Order: sequence, then structure tokens, then C-alpha cells
Amino acid sequence: YDLRNEDLKELQELGQGNGGSVKKVRHVPTGKIMAKKIVLIDAKPSVRKQILRELQIMHDCHSDYIISFFGAFLSDPNICICMEFMDKGSLDGIYKRIGAIDIEVVGRVALAVLEGLTYLYDVHRIIHRDIKPSNILCNSSGQIKICDFGVSGELINSIADTFVGTSTYMSPERIQGAQYTVKSDVWSLGISLIELALGRFPFSEDDASDSDLSDLEDLEGTLSPQRPGSLLGIPGPSLRRKEKSEKTNKKDKRKSKGVSLQGGGMTMSILELLQHIVNESAPRLTPEGRFPKEAENFVDSCLLKDPDERPTPKDLLNHSWIEQSRNSPVDLEAWANSF
Ligand code: ADP
Ligand code: MG
Repeated sequence: YDLRNEDLKELQELGQGNGGSVKKVRHVPTGKIMAKKIVLIDAKPSVRKQILRELQIMHDCHSDYIISFFGAFLSDPNICICMEFMDKGSLDGIYKRIGAIDIEVVGRVALAVLEGLTYLYDVHRIIHRDIKPSNILCNSSGQIKICDFGVSGELINSIADTFVGTSTYMSPERIQGAQYTVKSDVWSLGISLIELALGRFPFSEDDASDSDLSDLEDLEGTLSPQRPGSLLGIPGPSLRRKEKSEKTNKKDKRKSKGVSLQGGGMTMSILELLQHIVNESAPRLTPEGRFPKEAENFVDSCLLKDPDERPTPKDLLNHSWIEQSRNSPVDLEAWANSF
């Protein structure tokens, strides 16, 4: 497709994210329906061109578990990314409409995400960096695919600089400033699976007593998962040690942004949440006995706090729950057409 903005007729708004908005569009010359993501990027023309170049890698990503890419172009002051339209939307929207998702379906979601992550990493050395229910999409053929992976380092930087993203799916090691690895995505998958199976974000309710975590929805989008380096204000020996050894200008820039955030009334709650993720035990698929043992065990391994102990997506493809899900008779097409 030779994509130009004039050829794309906007049909419907699909959603708003932190980085921009997504619209259902028709490519008029071909009649092809697409999802157009519009990302506002406050960056120099040279950086924007670099982002566009980096996005071209997506042309080479071909997997049943990855959203297809049709092209990207600049449309001042935005970057538009055109991708496969998924008519049942994202899993967050689905569970918010129909309630907790059946564990057999959640098993298939886990399988699809692991296949997608393994493909991205094995074939392209790409780490996703933003696994969460709103980046897992579903269509009426019953396919489950992931989108919004971190192909462009420059795009990651540009979006991070506007301080967007969700912090709540972030792994303990990321909060403490460690580099992103495929295992950070596994943590985010674990949190997402609990959210789908329970029909609510896992850091809430029972955690609310020790800190003010009950209204997490309000906290989303305040800290960036992409931003390398440690997040500010989290006490803890490992973080302190890190901060001492990191002295670049970039880090200082980050620091000042972090501090200015503390002016807001929510800051302490955000920091409390991040602190909670680092210091308290990980959430689990509860109550005990409600879900299959294999599912509980799978989620427990995703949420091992030490990344050295946590398996990779490829390791997890051999987990018994995933084997089971592969062979399960659940009809995803029927499921996707039941709501
Ligand atoms: P976020 O992922 O943080 O919600 P995005 O801007 O990435 O923000 O997406 C906004 C919403 O648009 C998503 O929640 C999803 O429901 C919808 N969406 C994104 N991409 C597609 C797509 N390819 N097909 C259908 N819906 C999409
Ligand atoms: Mg998204």
C-alpha cells in the first residue's frame, strides 16, 4: 500500500491512548479497512524521519500472533501508523463489557502472547515493552494478536519524553532501573492474565489497606514503562546504589521531571504503587481452588520477582498450562462472536 492521509477516510474512533488516538479508516483506492494510529510527536524533523525508518521493520513482521502493518507516514505534527483492524477490539474493552474472561480463553490469550513475543524476539530481536490488555486485540475469526511493540528506539524515546505510558504493568526490576529484557514482558503478561481472569486490575482491593491503591485507574498513564533508568523516589537499597552510579545528563533530565511530578496530589500514590510492586509479594490468581493448578502455577512463574528466576516467553511455551491450552477444545471464534 502506498499510504497517503488524503486516501484514508475516517470511519470511527476506536480509542484514545496516552500517545494519541486510533481510528478505523477505509483506504479509499483499495477499499481496505485499517486501524490508523495517530501519534503526536514533538521532535525534530530528523528524528521523525528516523522514527519512520525504524518503523519499516514492521513490514518484515509476519506472524499469526502479531498485528499486520500496512505502512506509516508523517502528517505534521503527527506520525500515522496504519495496521490491521481488529473488529473485536482490545481485551481490556472486552472484559470491561462482558466481565471476567473464562480461564480457558485466558489460556489461549497466554499462548498467543507467548507465541507473538517469541516470534518478535527470536526473529527480530524485538522486546515488546508494553504488554497489557489494551495491546492484545481480538477479531471475529477468533484470532488473538499483540500490537504496539517497541520497534523504534526513537519512538520509544520521544513518547517517553512526553511522560506517558502506564506504570502499572511494569516489572520490579524495571522500576528499579534495570534494562528491559524479554522477562519484563513476561511479568506484564502475568499481571494482564490475572486482570482478565478476575475481571479487575490485580493491584487493588486487598492491597488497599496498606496503601492507597484502590483507585489505580486514576494513576494510569503517569509514568513511562519505556523510560530507561530508575523511577524517582522509590526507596530501596538497590535503587540507591544504581542512582549513585548513573550520572549522565539524560538521567538528570529525568530526575527533574520526576520531582516536578511530586507536586501533584497523586504522586505519592503512584510511588506507593511502584514501591508496593518492588517490596511486596506479587499478586496471584486467587482465591485458591477457583482456577486450575496449572494456571495458578503459570501465573506464579510469570510473577517471580527475581528476573533471573523468571522464565522467558520461549521457556513458557513448554509450560503444562500452555500445552493444555493448545489442545483445549475452546472455540475462540464462537467466543468472540458471543458478545
Ligand atoms: P492503549 O493501548 O494505551 O489503550 P492506544 O492508543 O494504543 O492506547 O489504543 C487505543 C485503543 O484503540 C486501544 O485500547 C484499542 O481498544 C484500540 N485499538 C488499537 N489498535 C487497534 C486495532 N488495530 N484494531 C482495533 N482496535 C484498536
Ligand atoms: Mg495500545
